[in-house]
Amino acid sequence: MQTTPFFVAGQKSTSDDVVEVRHPYDGRAVGRTANATPEQVERAVAAASAVAAEAAALPAAARAAALDHVSRRLAERADEVARLITAENGKPLKWARVEVTRGISTFRWAAEEARRFSGDLQRLDTDPAAAGRIAVVRRFPRGPVLGISPFNFPLNLVAHKVAPALAVGAPIVVKPAPATPLTALLLGSILAETDLPPGMFSVLPVPNDRAADLVADPRLPVVSFTGSGPVGFGIRDQVPRKHVTLELGGNAAALICGDWSSLEDLDWAAQRIATFSNYQAGQSCIAVQRVYVHEFLEDAFVPRLVAAVEALKTGDPSGEAVDVGPMISEDAAKRVESWVEEAVAGGATVVTGGRRTGATYLPTVLTGVPAGAKVLTEEVFGPVLAVARVADDAAGLAAVNDSAYGLQAGVFTHSLQTAFTAHRTLQVGGVIVGDVPSYRADQMPYGGVKGSGAGREGLRSAMDDYTEPRVMVLTGL
Ligand code: NAD
Repeated sequence: MQTTPFFVAGQKSTSDDVVEVRHPYDGRAVGRTANATPEQVERAVAAASAVAAEAAALPAAARAAALDHVSRRLAERADEVARLITAENGKPLKWARVEVTRGISTFRWAAEEARRFSGDLQRLDTDPAAAGRIAVVRRFPRGPVLGISPFNFPLNLVAHKVAPALAVGAPIVVKPAPATPLTALLLGSILAETDLPPGMFSVLPVPNDRAADLVADPRLPVVSFTGSGPVGFGIRDQVPRKHVTLELGGNAAALICGDWSSLEDLDWAAQRIATFSNYQAGQSCIAVQRVYVHEFLEDAFVPRLVAAVEALKTGDPSGEAVDVGPMISEDAAKRVESWVEEAVAGGATVVTGGRRTGATYLPTVLTGVPAGAKVLTEEVFGPVLAVARVADDAAGLAAVNDSAYGLQAGVFTHSLQTAFTAHRTLQVGGVIVGDVPSYRADQMPYGGVKGSGAGREGLRSAMDDYTEPRVMVLTGL
């Protein structure tokens, strides 16, 4: 098996510190790369720092051309990329294909944003003392970006950092997740085909202690982190003076309001919730984990939900028809198993699922989950759904807010008034009306409050994040 190279300042590189990548479904070796050495890390950071001024001055046409190239090449290699994602992450091929389609559009959209990214003119002569003055406001990169990504979307969560950085002309050093480096390296090989100046990007698999050194390095003033809360908040504490964006976990809720009552409505909600509590085996920060249903609808809704969950096909993720594959590791599935056992010991009922084979945990629906059980209060990050009834919509909104997290929420209602109330009162980064919380589009600001993080991604938000405004006042005009 060949060792996939990593990228130091755009150059293919390798080391003796070999890393095996294994398929989560059956543990077979699917690839191999190597960890970057401290010297290689130093070279990558020094090059990013050295090229920063040149990068900031790159014409929009050059930035957009590089981004368009990546989009085009991902499209040409879509099948290969999807199969690689499935092999190292274990997500079903059909979801891997969705991820690739999304990545293609992320880079295309970033190219368009790069062309649009401009400045602002402000007149200052509203103050008589400032007659003849105008302000030109432009955004300039803060400097090289360190992008740290988790395992669950090996392409998209790297794309969400690389694309906005290149769009604004900021060099980027990517540290991919240890379980899923190969997709990030494939993206690196496509970036290496562009005319971007050397030093503009590096993709460095490194162990976590070396990643912490990257976080501490003053030459990387922006840290864009996606991953778990303890690591993310630890990074913010480690470098309080840096510009740190944290995209962390959640225990997203969906609320079925009292007016969502036709059989068609209930079938749609059941279908969507079943799908999006189990896609990526529940390993998405906005997978549905909690469902609150108006008590008037409980008897009609829960059997539909259970039927939709039981219709999902679980198995080898390389099968085209498979909906739910393994979790990232057997340890992860064992953790989920123990959390379900804890809920059951406290009085919860397993309506369906509740069984593990190796790294695969069956899609599971729980009712009667006691307050305080981890499957309610923590991030399950597995295919487990806790369903509870609420007395009315207001109680439902309060239940959604009863969480240490706040990423997104789904509110199934036809009422504009309920939608606006939800938008005003839910403590989350996004409210999705008429659908699950698991919806994300690159145009939208995306991120959370409370334990779910700080700052926003989404291309335009990340571009703002990676830059800062600088004003030039012109006088005597
Ligand atoms: P993780 O926190 O274990 O790891 C994330 C990344 O941080 C990895 O690349 C890891 O190697 C690195 N890391 C670990 N310790 C570090 C340190 N001390 N310094 C620097 N880097 C370090 O998360 P994970 O298990 O890979 O991913 C799952 C988590 O990611 C879940 O909590 C999930 O909700 C979250 N997530 C959030 C979003 C979002 O956009 N909000 C999206 C996807 C996943």
